[in-house]
Amino acid sequence: MFCPFCRADDTKVIDSRLVADGYQVRRRRECTACHERFTTFEAAELVMPRIIKRDGSREPYNEDKLRSGLQRSLEKRPVPTEEVESLISKVESQLRATGEREVQSEMIGHLIMEQLLLLDKVAYVRFASVYRSFKDIREFGEEIARLGDDPS
Ligand SMILES: [Zn+2]
Repeated sequence: MFCPFCRADDTKVIDSRLVADGYQVRRRRECTACHERFTTFEAAELVMPRIIKRDGSREPYNEDKLRSGLQRSLEKRPVPTEEVESLISKVESQLRATGEREVQSEMIGHLIMEQLLLLDKVAYVRFASVYRSFKDIREFGEEIARLGDDPS
């Protein structure tokens, strides 16, 4: 890149370190012409896929919407906020890892349910009843019974 001071096109990296928990690289550079120093930050461009809704329409991924859905399921449950945030990060990195530009909304629902099952079973059932659209009330009852059998 050009030196921001003299626009010479030759700069050298004199220091490089990971910042923001390893998600960014901070580089200290020096211009070989005027010897001014400056800093650059580099981060991977991680784009969340767009969401394909059940009716086929598309919408941008919305973290707040996901969070409020989770909060509804977790109402009055003994789950710390930081665990909820960590669940959201996990789901987001799984979504990015697909490398897809668009994913079905059901897929997000499944990813959330997988994580929620580990976190809080009551919240899982609440979430599932809204997002999984059980085929009928019997299937929903079986799911609850199955969770009840689990000794953990
Ligand atoms: Zn320069």
